[in-house]
Amino acid sequence: MSGFTDKVVLVTGGNSGIGRAAAVQFAAGGAKVLIAARRAEASRAVVAEIEAVGGDAYAIQCDVTKSADCDSAVEACLERFGGLDVLFNNAGIIFRDKSALDTTDEHWAQTIAVNATGTFLMSRAAVAAMVARGGGAIVNNASYFGLVGGRGAAAYCASKGAVVLLTKAMALDHAGQGVRINCICPGSVDTPMLRGEMEEMGGADSVRHLFEEKHPLGRIATPDEIAAAVLYLASDEAAFITGAALPIDGGLTAG
Ligand code: NDP
Repeated sequence: MSGFTDKVVLVTGGNSGIGRAAAVQFAAGGAKVLIAARRAEASRAVVAEIEAVGGDAYAIQCDVTKSADCDSAVEACLERFGGLDVLFNNAGIIFRDKSALDTTDEHWAQTIAVNATGTFLMSRAAVAAMVARGGGAIVNNASYFGLVGGRGAAAYCASKGAVVLLTKAMALDHAGQGVRINCICPGSVDTPMLRGEMEEMGGADSVRHLFEEKHPLGRIATPDEIAAAVLYLASDEAAFITGAALPIDGGLTAG
């Protein structure tokens, strides 16, 4: 999608999977992209990929569970690129196959810290910068597991449900300040996170069909398909959309 010329976009977890795809697409649309994640080398690789085709990107090491890191990431957007227009809160983790009985205090705390608290901390830092600039757009990466429950994913579902309602609450608070806030709820997406899950279940070759079959469209999504929806929600074409939780799930939650 075009239309991001000179817009400044911050992508958490922009060094892998859906975040990487979004960072590349935003840059191709003319945006200046700041990638915030923990693994600096992987982030630099995406910056190099974007620069190799003439785009503008920068990486900052950031743990979204730390408010100082989130503040620094937003500060880096202001210092390097002169502002912040779009935030894609994408960083996330999952501990697989964990009912509540299998979920340790540490599993619970880490899942909530990255997925829910991280989304809040980065949003809080970003909204302040966006309001100062006269507006902006935030897209949060929830999951279809933020809309319906899933087996073996108690903490993950709790964290993603929190992202969905954080999105709606913040959308109400900041609509009058020109900041639109939406979230996406993807089904299964072919990323390192999902491949890790497949490996633990016996390998992609033998279990991939289980993920494909549960989606009415009969397949899983590509990271690029999810990124395209993120760009739409962040764009001026979506100027009347705020507080929405958009399923991108091949019909998984349709009924
Ligand atoms: P990946 O594992 O490929 O990407 C996860 C990203 O999150 C990495 O870039 C990682 O970077 C970053 N990250 C993790 N913890 C932190 C942290 N504390 N601070 C900053 N960055 C962090 O997975 P996906 O692309 O699949 O996941 C992206 C998002 O999509 C997640 O929120 C996930 O829950 C959601 N999602 C994924 C689905 C799927 O089927 N794949 C389905 C529905 C939702 P680093 O390790 O360098 O910090």
